[in-house]
Amino acid sequence: MGKVSVLISENEIAAKVAELGAKISKDYDGRELVVIGILKGSFVFLSDLVRQVTVPHVIDFMRLSSYGDSTEHSGVVQILLDISKPIEGRHVLVVEDIVDTGLTMKYLLENLRTRRPSSVKVCSLLQKPARTKVEVPIDYLGFTIPDKFVVGYGLDWEEKYRNLPFVGYMEN
Ligand code: 5GP
Repeated sequence: MGKVSVLISENEIAAKVAELGAKISKDYDGRELVVIGILKGSFVFLSDLVRQVTVPHVIDFMRLSSYGDSTEHSGVVQILLDISKPIEGRHVLVVEDIVDTGLTMKYLLENLRTRRPSSVKVCSLLQKPARTKVEVPIDYLGFTIPDKFVVGYGLDWEEKYRNLPFVGYMEN
């Protein structure tokens, strides 16, 4: 992999995160939230987002892995780390870095619903519509992006580049 080109700049991300945070704060006004960050990719987005959310909330994490290589999703998802507290009767907001085929999010939403939360919504920084295999509702979406492999702002290539302050793509 070679040079990384900027797809979404640091400023564009900051403006969008502020907008999403304001919308979430307005929508959940008067309610308490459980924010579930999906590791590892969402950790940068989540840390910026929650600082723009003014409603009271607790933060928990899940780590998922899909079988298959990074480009072909098998649809089978494994929970490597589960949330630490029950979500029954709680309002849940799942925070993800990117919805690609949608298979991970579909599995996750089905799994979370069996735990009887009051509501479940999804916030994703990115979506690649060209790759959609299953439709999943994204209640709060940052950006739709072209079918490129992106890195930065939490997203990795072989565990690297997560620290880039922007979302970029690799130029070969
Ligand atoms: P899906 O189940 O929607 O196909 O895949 C979701 C997961 O695949 C994301 O959480 C992310 O880990 C990974 N992924 C999908 N597209 C990209 C990409 O362009 N860059 C990186 N770094 N990860 C991606």
